[in-house]
Amino acid sequence: MSVARFWRETPRRYNLAGSKCGRCGTVYFPPRAVCPTCPQHRETMAQMGPFQLTGDGTVFAYTVVHEAAEGFEMLVPYVLALVRTVEGPMLTGQVVDIDPSEVRIGLKVRATFRKLREEGKAGVIHYGYKFAPVSDADGAPRRPAPRGTAAASTPDAAPADRASA
Ligand SMILES: [Zn+2]
Repeated sequence: MSVARFWRETPRRYNLAGSKCGRCGTVYFPPRAVCPTCPQHRETMAQMGPFQLTGDGTVFAYTVVHEAAEGFEMLVPYVLALVRTVEGPMLTGQVVDIDPSEVRIGLKVRATFRKLREEGKAGVIHYGYKFAPVSDADGAPRRPAPRGTAAASTPDAAPADRASA
């Protein structure tokens, strides 16, 4: 993607800014100028308003990617998921902060803004949303369970865990 196109798309990438039909209530992301759901969709233009998606949703479908595209070599294997947001629109994005083998259909996730990739030596950094699991209890982002000093450190321990040990 060109830098110019990226910046044009930045507001909605950062904000998950969609649109909502004032007539039937359907939410769209990316935003739409008219509502294709309403029978008289040509008449809905004046009723389409901005709508901020929460970023909350559940995994609808997913795939584990083992062969990385150029620029994503550091990330394999990673999970690419189709997420059904609580507002309705489907979003596609990477699922992070979870072992790929633990991802399931129906997993509750929340969009979080992360670095997507770095381009070339100039270091153009692209940011966008990725999805992280949320706990069922309080909806807070899931964190690894605290490890006692008695527990041996595991190979998958996060750097933060090792630093605090
Ligand atoms: Zn509508």
